[in-house]
Amino acid sequence: MPSQNVKKQGKLRLSSSVSQLQGVGQKTVQKLNKVGIRTVYDLVTYFPFRYSDFASKDLFNLPDKTKVSLCGKIATEPVAPKYSYCKFRFEYKQEHETHTITVMFFHKNWITRAFHQGQLVLLYGTYGAQFHTVTGQRIKKIQHVPKNKEVLQPAYSLTQGLKQYMLQKLIKSAFGQVKDQLKDNLPTSLERKYHLMTFPETVKNLQFPNNLKDEHEARRTEKFNELYHYELRIQKMKQKSTKSRGIKIPLHIHEKRVLRHFYDSLPFRLTSGQVRSTNEILLNLAANTQMNRLLQGDVGSGKTIVAALGILDTISAGYQCALMVPTGVLAKQHYQSFKNLFSKLPITVALLTSDIKGQAEAKLLNQIQNGQVDLVIGTDSLIQPTVIFHNLGLAIIDEQHRFGVDQRQALIAKGNGVNALAMTATPIPRTLAITSYGDMDVSVIDTLPKGRKPVKTSWIKPKEFNTIVPKVKELLSQGQQAFLVVPLVEQKSHATANKLDALTAYHKLQKTFSPFKIGLLHGQMDDDEKNQIMSDFQNKKFDLLVSTTVIEVGVDISDATMMIIYDADSFGLATLHQLRGRVGRNSLQSYCWLIAQPKTKQGVQRMQVMEKTNNGFVISQADLKLRGSGDLFGESQSGVPKFKCADVVNDANILNCAEIEARKATVKQV
Ligand code: ADP
Ligand code: MG
Repeated sequence: MPSQNVKKQGKLRLSSSVSQLQGVGQKTVQKLNKVGIRTVYDLVTYFPFRYSDFASKDLFNLPDKTKVSLCGKIATEPVAPKYSYCKFRFEYKQEHETHTITVMFFHKNWITRAFHQGQLVLLYGTYGAQFHTVTGQRIKKIQHVPKNKEVLQPAYSLTQGLKQYMLQKLIKSAFGQVKDQLKDNLPTSLERKYHLMTFPETVKNLQFPNNLKDEHEARRTEKFNELYHYELRIQKMKQKSTKSRGIKIPLHIHEKRVLRHFYDSLPFRLTSGQVRSTNEILLNLAANTQMNRLLQGDVGSGKTIVAALGILDTISAGYQCALMVPTGVLAKQHYQSFKNLFSKLPITVALLTSDIKGQAEAKLLNQIQNGQVDLVIGTDSLIQPTVIFHNLGLAIIDEQHRFGVDQRQALIAKGNGVNALAMTATPIPRTLAITSYGDMDVSVIDTLPKGRKPVKTSWIKPKEFNTIVPKVKELLSQGQQAFLVVPLVEQKSHATANKLDALTAYHKLQKTFSPFKIGLLHGQMDDDEKNQIMSDFQNKKFDLLVSTTVIEVGVDISDATMMIIYDADSFGLATLHQLRGRVGRNSLQSYCWLIAQPKTKQGVQRMQVMEKTNNGFVISQADLKLRGSGDLFGESQSGVPKFKCADVVNDANILNCAEIEARKATVKQV
């Protein structure tokens, strides 16, 4: 009866709050909000993640413990058998096809009160092959046997207090009232081309499918739908950025001469990947449009020098540059290396981190604003409102995966039409690149500098640590250096008691590696202290550096050839790869030892992947497989969108089609 459904007056709309629904009070609203349902639209597009299949089955041929859903008449009155070994057992016989089957429920004494012989029920449970029984989990009365014999019961993700049957009821009632308002949202041509359903059909077949084939088709449609609309947004963003005018950095004779001179003075030749990427960047800078480019290259591939060429080009055309990095240690290091690189040129480089305060800060800010500084290198201090540029022409974001899109945007917004270059070592599979960096052009450095030897990686158990000590000592005595990374700074609680911490390691290893000198670096030191230790290490004041993952990104110590990672299984693959990338940066053979006793199968697999390959791309693929897309860079940094049905990794094929179609559609509109 419709009047029953229309609560609180007025017609129910897709945009109505769920509180407008019959039988939905404040408490239910809160529970629905918890799973992201606010409007009626949210409710009817809250899709089940699974269905119980009540299709008739040949029970005799099912394997033991199969989940089954049966539909049939109760043949005997539910009772607690007198002589049962278990007094919490209740059972009855249920008709199934041409015979009956024994159904058992444990601890559910209401069965004997609520259900009786002769009633028609839907039963969900586990099949026991030995005695040909079903242990029931859910049961409900029905009026008649479903016509097509296939009844799929939806199962939704729930939260505390939200019940399956409640959601089923609400969704059914809401759908009934608003189904005519659901509008098709894909072009008919695409629906025809890919054999997709209309949107109302899709929702109906996902919520109340007649059979699994329809459900599958509806799900395929919905995935396409989600990815297509996402890609349309990305394409529009991209179009906007290519249309907006950017600061043009002309490549005239003057700039060419400066660049050529600098290039010739480098101690090495650029790799083909570096040359190609540099050309793409310079061409992009010389165009009228704003640059929005991602430079991707594995750890150690030499992204810094490519950035330097872009910076030099921009500065020689009279504009300022900014380089933003995730840590103070890395900022200091880049500052030093850029000062060296540009030492023979009339270029002023400055360092801006949160450690620069008071008068020094005021003076620096003033110089940046006056245009006395050409290149500012810093942490996210660069995006504070107090930082005002004279004429920012190029913004570079190093280790982009450590920053959010907003931080990138904030830096670019420090000028008009500022060209942007983001750099990342985390190689991402193409499908992910489409979604997380879809609005950017991409340059790839796919070659490592000549003469690099792949790092030799071995996984050893903690008790075997002593077996590597002689080798490490031998290399240390040749003037090579080693990192030893541990997961913690110091032991804080019982929960972490089985992990090695930096302070303990530092004290223990003094003895083990005597007479070699050992340094200690961790995240709780202030930037000055950290920088001092890094430069001492660089200047070989000590041979082995015990550190937490503060050295994970970017750090470049040319004589380091050994990376020892303690409790390696507590790090993700991406981090392990970054850490290992701190060595193998010269022509000597480098080593990486992973010390771990993984407790999970995944942990073992991670160690094996690291032993097997040095290729960042293969590693990120493996990471994806082991952990799923959301975790690739850590939840908050992934930039990988979440969809209701689609999954960018598993639905890569659909994503590809959606991207192609979205691109076509965007071009057509121009
Ligand atoms: P990443 O891509 O990880 O940021 P860097 O830019 O720090 O890598 O470069 C790693 C090291 O390789 C640096 O010491 C750099 O001087 C050196 N390097 C860069 N390009 C080349 C090259 N073409 N040939 C030899 N060494 C290079
Ligand atoms: Mg780098």
